[in-house]
Amino acid sequence: MPEKTTFVTQPYLPPLEEFLPYLQKIWDNKILTNGGPFHQQLERELCDYLGVEHIALFTNGTVALVTALQALRVTGEVITTPYSFVATAHSLLWNSIKPVFVDVDPESLNLDPGKIEAAITPQTTAILPVHCYGHPCDVDAIQKIADTYNLKVIYDAAHAFGVRRKNGESVLRCGDLSVLSFHATKVFNTFEGGAIVCPDAKTKSRIDQLKNFGHAGETNVVATGINGKMSEFNAALGLLQLKHVDEAISRRKKIDHAYRSLLGNVRGVHCLGDAGESFANYAYFPILIGQDYSINRDDLYDRMKANKVHPRRYFYPLISEFPMYRSLPSAQRSNLVAAARAAAQVLCLPIYPDLAIEKVEEICHFLAKQ
Ligand SMILES: *Cc1c(COP(=O)(O)O)cnc(C)c1O
Repeated sequence: MPEKTTFVTQPYLPPLEEFLPYLQKIWDNKILTNGGPFHQQLERELCDYLGVEHIALFTNGTVALVTALQALRVTGEVITTPYSFVATAHSLLWNSIKPVFVDVDPESLNLDPGKIEAAITPQTTAILPVHCYGHPCDVDAIQKIADTYNLKVIYDAAHAFGVRRKNGESVLRCGDLSVLSFHATKVFNTFEGGAIVCPDAKTKSRIDQLKNFGHAGETNVVATGINGKMSEFNAALGLLQLKHVDEAISRRKKIDHAYRSLLGNVRGVHCLGDAGESFANYAYFPILIGQDYSINRDDLYDRMKANKVHPRRYFYPLISEFPMYRSLPSAQRSNLVAAARAAAQVLCLPIYPDLAIEKVEEICHFLAKQ
C-alpha cells in the first residue's frame, strides 16, 4: 500500500459511539438550534474549563470576529497584524473599518507593542492583535497603550484555546473581548464553530442579540444583526470534545517536545519558543529556516511534499500582500520587515494528537539530512 501523506494537522474526533447518545437526545427533543440545551450547557462548561466569566457561541470564528467589532461599535481605523490568517483583517473590511498593519516582534511573531503608538491616528478606535500559534501577546504593554489612547482591544484568540498566562490566568480574559475558533483544524473543534469571550453579562446579551439578527425578544429588533448561532449538533459535539481535550493537548505536548529535542542541533532550523505561558496548547509547531540551512524554505517545502509530508507556510503570504490590502500605506514591505522575514522563513510542521512519534522522528531526520 502506498504511504499516505502526513498533513500539517488532522482533526481530532472522539469515538463515534460516544456521540450517538447526544444525537439521540437531539432527535428526541427536536431542538436543533437557537440556544438549545446543548448550546447552553457548552457555554457553561467552556466558562468553567477556560476560566472565564461569559462566553457566546458562534457558527464560526470569522462571524464571531465580525460581531465582536460590532458589539463594541468599533469604527474608523484598527491596528492589527499582517502575520495571521486572512480572516483577522477581513473582519475589519466587513465592518468598513480600515486596517492599519503594524509589524510583529521578530521573536514572538506577535504584534510589536513598541510599534503601535506610531500608527495611532485620530481615527484609531481599537487594536486587533492575534495570539499567534497560541503564544500570548505582550498583553500588559498592549493594554497600557489602549488605556493611554482610549482604545478597545479585541484579541483574535483563534489559536489560544485553553492557554494560560505566566500568572496562571486564562489569556482569554485579556482585553475587552477575545474571539475563539473551533474550526476542524484547531486544538478544540466542533467541525465549524467559534465563540466570543466577554467580561460581563451586559456585553454577552448584546452579542447574543447580534448573532440572532439583532432580535431583542419576539417582536423587537434592535440592531442589524447576523445569523451567527451555533447549532445543537455542533454544541453537542463540543461537549464531547471537551471531555477529550486535555488528553489531546497532552499528546500534542509530547510531539512538541520530541520535535524540540530532535531539531535542537539542526543547523539553520530555529524552533519558535513559547511566551512563557503556564499552560500551552501546542496548536502549531512553527520553525524558521535560516540562511545557514542548506536550502531555502520553499525548496524544503517542495522536497517535503514530494516525500509525502505536507507542512504549511503559516503565515505566507502576509495578509498585507493580498489584493484588497496591498494598496494600504501600512501594507508596504518597509513597514513590515520582521513579518516579511518570518513569512519567508516559516514552516509549520505536522502536529496533532494522533501523529506517531516515529513520524516525528522521520520528519526530523529528513530535515537534518537535506
Ligand atoms: C482559524 C482562524 C480564524 C477563523 O476562524 P474560523 O472558525 O475558521 O472562521 C481567524 N483567525 C485566525 C488567526 C485563525 O487561525
